[in-house]
Amino acid sequence: MEHLLYHFCPDTLNLYGDRGNIICLKKRCEWRGISLHIEEIKNPDDARKTGSDLFMIGGGSDREQSIVTSRLAPLVKEIRAWIEDGVSALTICGGYQFLGDYYEMKNGEKLKGMGILPFYTKAGEDRLMTNLLVESKQFGKVVGFENHGGKTYHHFETIGKVINGYGNNEESGEEGLHYHHLIGTYLHGPILPKNPKIADYLIEKAFERKTGRKLEPLDDEMENKETRPFGRDFCTLNGKNI
Ligand code: GLN
Repeated sequence: MEHLLYHFCPDTLNLYGDRGNIICLKKRCEWRGISLHIEEIKNPDDARKTGSDLFMIGGGSDREQSIVTSRLAPLVKEIRAWIEDGVSALTICGGYQFLGDYYEMKNGEKLKGMGILPFYTKAGEDRLMTNLLVESKQFGKVVGFENHGGKTYHHFETIGKVINGYGNNEESGEEGLHYHHLIGTYLHGPILPKNPKIADYLIEKAFERKTGRKLEPLDDEMENKETRPFGRDFCTLNGKNI
């Protein structure tokens, strides 16, 4: 049975190789004999009302985010309904911020968000740029890097606690957002090849929802290889291995 993934606006939102997440999802499906069909949604008419089994929205600059917000505005109701219905979704940085009510820029000007979930993002004085390490109850150690000006504030569940880096904002010590089967995150990297548990969580929820069956595990020895103290290729901060 074919599964369908919508990749929203890859022509506009694709910072730091976020597209690599799609390759990772496709490969991990293939290795289990699951066929994953990918459709790029650049305009509202590209999407079927019935939606997809998974979707991804990558990161982008403030300007690109606001272009996409107006372009996809006609799909707000549908995207909200898909999330509520348990569709698996990964939204990264600009794509994560874009689900909220607004993004307040440094000069105080507010860019409208999609208003799909009640939260907001406000740009701070400095960009939050570093390697990000998160301890997650559900996913264990989660690694990647972050590069954003916006700080996000919400009351939803998060992915986990920030051990190194900033995450949602400097105050809360929490990273990302987890609601139904939607993961919003500041982790680029791309996130999924480095964090196979999150990749499989998204695939599993889509697969179970469609077939009622459990997902077969894969051998992740290579993905989980600890090359540095924090595992995988989590790298250096101020010249030191961390
Ligand atoms: N425009 C956003 C910010 O700088 C998102 C950047 C990104 O997607 N990396 O906060």
